[in-house]
Amino acid sequence: RKGCAIVTGASSGLGLATAKALSETGKWHVIMACRDFLKAEKAAKSVGMPKENYTIMHLDLASLDSVRQFVDNFRRSGRPLDVLVANAAVYQPTAKEPSFTAEGFEISVGTNHLGHFLLSRLLLDDLKQSDYPSKRLIIVGSITGNTNTLAGNVPPKANLGDLRGMAGGLNGINSSAMIDGGEFDGAKAYKDSKVCNMLTMQEFHRRYHEETGITFASLYPGCIATTGLFREHIPLFRLLFPPFQQYITKGFVSETEAGKRLAQVVSDPSLTKSGVYWSWNKDSASFENQLSEEASDAEKARKVWEISEKLVGLA
Ligand code: NDP
Repeated sequence: RKGCAIVTGASSGLGLATAKALSETGKWHVIMACRDFLKAEKAAKSVGMPKENYTIMHLDLASLDSVRQFVDNFRRSGRPLDVLVANAAVYQPTAKEPSFTAEGFEISVGTNHLGHFLLSRLLLDDLKQSDYPSKRLIIVGSITGNTNTLAGNVPPKANLGDLRGMAGGLNGINSSAMIDGGEFDGAKAYKDSKVCNMLTMQEFHRRYHEETGITFASLYPGCIATTGLFREHIPLFRLLFPPFQQYITKGFVSETEAGKRLAQVVSDPSLTKSGVYWSWNKDSASFENQLSEEASDAEKARKVWEISEKLVGLA
């Protein structure tokens, strides 16, 4: 049978390129989990995805009710779940004030981390039940949350501190909107959310890999400077960022190439190792990369997990 993969945020950028790459193999049925149904439909058509190889299902990660409804709808579809790809993200580098999810969490951490945290926890049971030879849960990471890299050292740097803002609910009312309890900074909130993504992947690995055989992995697909992620950035940045990445840092990767990389982490029989963070070198060969001290801190991963459980109503 075909494998079944859920890809969140498959309506643009990396998610769309990955959905396309998987659907074209004919070996996968892709569930495009998207907040904007029409946009997703248009996107799938515009890149020529074979109709029989995808289904669009509504998911708004900025609402925990929507996450739960998505899980119910997916289960009603009767399809098995073989791979879950937590890809969607929001990035608000120029926001002066925080905005919030339906439950009142700062929107970057609320969407990128908490929405995916609940989704992954709920769908773990479905992954367990799959009889697919290699079941995987992939959470897209980023170099920007990794302070052991050049890109990760561009201020504001990711830093979760002692998690006091997160423990307080990230609501900007009786707690800070930032995980570390500091002043709101949209770029930092995104980077912090990516650290949470990478910590969550490792905590999943520690808690569930042995028992379930599921592969838990994260990746940095390269700098895909052309995606919608930078839509809220100032125009001059949007103009200069792609050539800067292409010719100066040489970290640039096209959406198509990045999609192939993520599709590889979904389906390549040789990438079954769990608990790892994949990157690619200049020749596009994958290798296991090192995470920064904070992004591999097991104690912090456990605390983020426990606080997240409370915030999403699992504990
Ligand atoms: P895009 O902005 O192109 O794609 C993000 C996707 O997430 C869109 O499909 C968007 O939906 C979706 N999304 C946003 N909010 C929600 C929500 N509340 N519910 C459901 N879906 C939502 O960015 P990229 O493709 O660049 O980003 C994809 C991933 O790649 C992210 O995890 C990002 O951190 C990571 N990444 C990107 C890099 C880059 O250089 N671009 C580098 C490293 C990592 P909609 O279409 O409706 O807006």
